[in-house]
Amino acid sequence: MTTPEQHRRDQHFMHLAIDQAKLGIRTPGGAEVGCILVKHGTVAASGFNEAALHSDPTAHAEIVTIRRLCAERKTLSLAGCTLYCTLQPCAMCTAASLWSGISRIVYGAGRADVHPLYFAERLQNTEDLIADAYRNDIEMVSGILRDECAQFYLTPRDPAPPDPDPAHDPTVQP
Ligand SMILES: [Zn+2]
Repeated sequence: MTTPEQHRRDQHFMHLAIDQAKLGIRTPGGAEVGCILVKHGTVAASGFNEAALHSDPTAHAEIVTIRRLCAERKTLSLAGCTLYCTLQPCAMCTAASLWSGISRIVYGAGRADVHPLYFAERLQNTEDLIADAYRNDIEMVSGILRDECAQFYLTPRDPAPPDPDPAHDPTVQP
């Protein structure tokens, strides 16, 4: 149960995650998902999607930020940390949160608020993944600054943009 004071804090930190999404948009090779890790009420690490920057499909904002904090603190455990993300974490990032022992996940726009292209169709939903991992000790909070976060992403009604990877274009002969 989120108290009004916690809700206010969640909104404050989500604004900082939004700042990271904006930084991702301005950065060549960056993208519009921002993430913040908070411990003991202060920002411990921040990041944005760097997949194109590093030619690394795993460099989602959450993974970048988890790696950054674990490397800096030389630890495998982020117990006590809250992860804030502008977009609902995908299955990979949820699993990374489980492996790193993050205590709380707070996100802005949810899967239903954005175009399906942001989530591989058959990948499990975040809440189901955590339930199936029997990690009901992880608190998940959705929809913090939902509209402000969703503005960065295509809506469910937008046409899908063309796939920039010719390997995925059925009209291109291999
Ligand atoms: Zn992800």
